[in-house]
Amino acid sequence: MKTIKQKQFNLAMKSYNSSNRYKHIYKIVSTLNVSMQIILLFILFSLTMPWYLYLIGFFIAYFLTDFINGLVHMYMDNNDNYNSIWGPFIASFHLHHKTEKYKEANIFLLYFNESGAKFWLVPYLIIVLLLSTMAINPFVLLLLIYIGILSSFSEISHYLCHNADSNFITTLQKYRILLPISHHAKHHQYDNQSYAFLNGTSDFIIDKIAKKLYTGYKNGSDEHFKTYDGAGTDNRD
Ligand SMILES: [Zn+2]
Ligand SMILES: [Zn+2]
Repeated sequence: MKTIKQKQFNLAMKSYNSSNRYKHIYKIVSTLNVSMQIILLFILFSLTMPWYLYLIGFFIAYFLTDFINGLVHMYMDNNDNYNSIWGPFIASFHLHHKTEKYKEANIFLLYFNESGAKFWLVPYLIIVLLLSTMAINPFVLLLLIYIGILSSFSEISHYLCHNADSNFITTLQKYRILLPISHHAKHHQYDNQSYAFLNGTSDFIIDKIAKKLYTGYKNGSDEHFKTYDGAGTDNRD
């Protein structure tokens, strides 16, 4: 089984590396996500709400974003459908487990590029845009918009965990505004844990869900790229 999965993985990566199609798809997804986020940001500031609700909503959304993106990460790490049409994206995603440091990039460019792998975010943002035209509770709308934007930001938090280069970033990580390095290291070092990557505060729930649903990636998807020695996950730009 392991050898079959390794072969499927290598074939999926061969397809991924042999065509610019996948990079174009990332660009389209990035463009859709970021443009909808910009529209939603305008809608966010046009809501009539006291400032403290903006603040309270932000903290709630921060936790929810950490949780939702952690769940998606958990699902993806344990997904080995390399033969599906999503196969090349899944295989390429799994390579983050062997990436210690990412290519240095401008933070705005990074935000744009990293939004390209967030396929689930496209229908999510479309739904939030549609809801914004309806008579939905403004606080709920506020939460949904924050989550839609912070989900892309969480990718920056993960990137900085691998590429932290200033005292300022280290301080933000220390106070859990960003994902602390020591917390995230557990995801790479151990098995089936610490999937959250905005600041890791929801991992105490995700770890329990992961334990119930999956046996882990160390003997699963991590084994599948063992015979692959090509390009890594820095291919989205
Ligand atoms: Zn992972
Ligand atoms: Zn990582």
